[in-house]
Amino acid sequence: MMVVEDQYVPRQVAVALLRDLGVAEVLQAENGRDALDQIRCTVAPLDVIICDLDMPQMDGVQFIRNVGAATAGTSIVLASGVEHAVLTSVEAMARSQGLDVLGVLEKPVTSKKLGDVLARFRAGAARAVRRMAPPIDPVELRDAIAARQIKPHFQPMVRIADARVVGLEALARWAHPERGTLGPDAFISIAERCGMIDDLTWLMLEAAIAEAALWHRAAHQWRVSVNLSLPFLESEDVADRIAGRAERYAVPPQEVVLEVTERLATTQIAPVLANIARLRMKGFRIAIDDYGTGYSSLQQLARMPFTELKVDRTFVGGSPERPNLQAILSSSMQLARRLNLVSVAEGVETGREWQLLEETGCDIAQGYLIARPMPAEAVQPWAGGWAGTA
Ligand code: C2E
Ligand code: CA
Ligand code: CA
Repeated sequence: MMVVEDQYVPRQVAVALLRDLGVAEVLQAENGRDALDQIRCTVAPLDVIICDLDMPQMDGVQFIRNVGAATAGTSIVLASGVEHAVLTSVEAMARSQGLDVLGVLEKPVTSKKLGDVLARFRAGAARAVRRMAPPIDPVELRDAIAARQIKPHFQPMVRIADARVVGLEALARWAHPERGTLGPDAFISIAERCGMIDDLTWLMLEAAIAEAALWHRAAHQWRVSVNLSLPFLESEDVADRIAGRAERYAVPPQEVVLEVTERLATTQIAPVLANIARLRMKGFRIAIDDYGTGYSSLQQLARMPFTELKVDRTFVGGSPERPNLQAILSSSMQLARRLNLVSVAEGVETGREWQLLEETGCDIAQGYLIARPMPAEAVQPWAGGWAGTA
């Protein structure tokens, strides 16, 4: 761990607080240049750098621009007395360089503030260890798709006005025989790169629509949402085939939401647009997913006939404490209203976030506050309990 701070006293305070919190080794630097020199000489990579922004010689902003190249897997904590808006923009810059920003410490630094940030780091490190598992072999993934080891879990979406369940999103889970349940981050991008995304998506669509048919039979008018990658939407007959699936299970297209995000640059945008238009004409709902991230923006809104706007969870988490996020949320909701789109906020984890979304006029909430994604057979029992509490 390293503390970069030009003033002697605050630096010593931070170091002492870190030691109290049980951090054994703390390096210190007086400015960005000094810090970079030390980083280049250390053998083991640093886990966390706590960096003041306002320093002589090389300030924190310059330091962060330079440190990106020198470190991999290091987390940054920004400490400063500058106003929050500036901190937020530096945070965005650091993230765009691939640095993991653990948080922002407003000065004066206290034991409580440091403790919170370190707790976040430890949680992240535990996740990283899990992510470090050996990569998936594409052949194994192909076999798993053929053996239908990949299934949807479902996460509820509820209307904020009355807390009623309006739909569920299908999220891919791989019941791996040795590694346990794997999430989509472990295999979707491999499927996209290795030409398996079509088979995987058909598996998901089929299972999700079949499940929706069961819900409808049990008199639950819940929609089902399925994530589609753009490469999947390139094949010419995709709209007819999706319509065919819905028809076979007697699920009306109005009850199926297709969530689209532009995670991969597609070479062929024309067939994608044609398919989305045709799906829309057939009555399917189309959601712009991860709205507000680099992949999913105003440009897409202008050219695709969306019916729903899903605000990315990075704008939802922590929004009650952050005026900038609130501004983004409320302008997204306003935009959704103007364009007649249903607005959905993902990643709702706290009651305060829910309340804020209610105030901004968001229609639907999805997130751990309501429920985590669950296996298909858990959905109806969960909904029974939810109706009792909501
Ligand atoms: P997404 O479409 O943005 O899905 C929401 C993700 O946020 C899910 O992660 C969900 O588990 C997680 N999430 C939900 N509520 C909360 C919350 O309150 N807090 C936090 N921190 N996270 C929450 P998951 O299941 O790991 O999926 C990750 C991404 O993988 C999805 O992001 C989606 O883009 C992609 N994906 C999932 N299934 C499929 C699929 O069948 N096909 C394709 N192409 N992509 C899929
Ligand atoms: Ca989604
Ligand atoms: Ca998202």
